[in-house]
Amino acid sequence: MYHGNLFIISAPSGTGKTTILKKTIAAMKEIVFSVSHTTRTPRAGEQEGVDYFFIDKDVFLSMEQQGLFLEWAEVHGNLYGTSRSTIQAEAEKGLDIILDIDVQGARQVNEKFKDKGVFIFIAPPSLEELARRLAGRSTEAEAIIATRLANAKEEMKSIDDYDYVIVNDTVEQAVEVLKSIIIAERSRTRRDLSGEPLNLVF
Ligand code: ADP
Ligand code: 5GP
Repeated sequence: MYHGNLFIISAPSGTGKTTILKKTIAAMKEIVFSVSHTTRTPRAGEQEGVDYFFIDKDVFLSMEQQGLFLEWAEVHGNLYGTSRSTIQAEAEKGLDIILDIDVQGARQVNEKFKDKGVFIFIAPPSLEELARRLAGRSTEAEAIIATRLANAKEEMKSIDDYDYVIVNDTVEQAVEVLKSIIIAERSRTRRDLSGEPLNLVF
């Protein structure tokens, strides 16, 4: 039986979600990142099987046809999906799982799991700051940045569908808030601060 929590985290591209998730996961126990499959090309420094499983479009579509994805979506012109087997393997260990997926994927997970997931939206302090962060990251060409900014306005409209909103003003503060949410949700599901199930036998 799965005793972990499923955290679904969305944010417009460039908000700082990857930065926040990496620091949060490194600082906590019993929580893992669900590595997605994507047809996007790797950015400098991204590792196969750590950041994503990088696959060709025909492989992705064949996996989709076989029903291997729990959810999938086209985001900024690339395909992204969460494979069922990735989630299954972590769930069997009873770990908390973080899904870093876009608003379309979050909607699909919500339909499948209803009240079982914890939905968290990370918002940038402003659209201007988001543009600065995307440009500062220097991983995308200008045209791609423009697409991501246009999509951000659309994605912000889904904010009310989420249980929690974190504004990423400073990384340190956003990480503290995310850790607090994880700890609070662990308390709801009777797990101790380190994520282990509580064993209260009197
Ligand atoms: P995402 O995963 O949401 O696309 P990243 O984590 O790659 O975003 O962050 C985008 C850029 O913004 C990176 O260069 C990162 O260092 C920077 N960044 C992240 N959080 C902050 C913050 N709170 N203040 C300033 N810059 C930030
Ligand atoms: P990036 O290309 O910047 O890594 O990610 C772009 C967007 O794709 C982000 O909003 C990210 O959350 C989303 N994304 C990453 N993996 C998945 C996935 O498996 N499914 C869905 N639906 N979106 C994903």
